[in-house]
Amino acid sequence: MQAALSRGAFWNVLFQAPEYRGRNFLKDGQSITFVYVPLRLQWDLHYKAQEYATELKVALGPRPATSFDSLRMQAALSRGAFWNVLFQAPEYRGRNFLQLKTVDGAVAQPGAKDNPWIHFANMSSPQLYARMCRCILNHAPIGSYYSRFNLNDGHTSCPCGCPWETRTHILTCKRTYRPPRTCELRQPTTLCYLHSFLEMNPKAFAFRSAPTAGVG
Ligand SMILES: [Zn+2]
Repeated sequence: MQAALSRGAFWNVLFQAPEYRGRNFLKDGQSITFVYVPLRLQWDLHYKAQEYATELKVALGPRPATSFDSLRMQAALSRGAFWNVLFQAPEYRGRNFLQLKTVDGAVAQPGAKDNPWIHFANMSSPQLYARMCRCILNHAPIGSYYSRFNLNDGHTSCPCGCPWETRTHILTCKRTYRPPRTCELRQPTTLCYLHSFLEMNPKAFAFRSAPTAGVG
């Protein structure tokens, strides 16, 4: 393990997805190792991060409205509001982001504490949630992604034989994937449908083998 804490060293990233565990990646000429460490092991690095984040204690003071906690809460609220505005801009969101809605028709936007993504994170395995994020971000081990970054020796086909495997193709490929129960296979419009599709198709947006070095 290359967990590096010394000055100038590259911080290793803890990553939940099992397919990344123990894999080495190169970024800007520096090596990154993805290491899975369950919280229950109380790893020292976790503890230090927690200590660092909570070490500052400030007394309430005579004016609660200008206390440290109050200002911090206002900063958090402002950040959330700013993020909501920022994310509405397509050029900021990115053209690959899959816009979905909640069951009540609201736009499912990541970010806030009560956002619908948290609900699906809680009801999914880490593997399923990772596939869901890959699909929504179009940052997934699929043909179009491999082609874009010159990976996987130019293999861009779907298992059905279609030479060009895109996100849209996967979500509508009847020969390879099954629809959620009581549904037709279609382009998803809700988080709920996408979650059900991924439950029904464990191989969708999953690595077929260990990822090629550099993917991630
Ligand atoms: Zn196909």
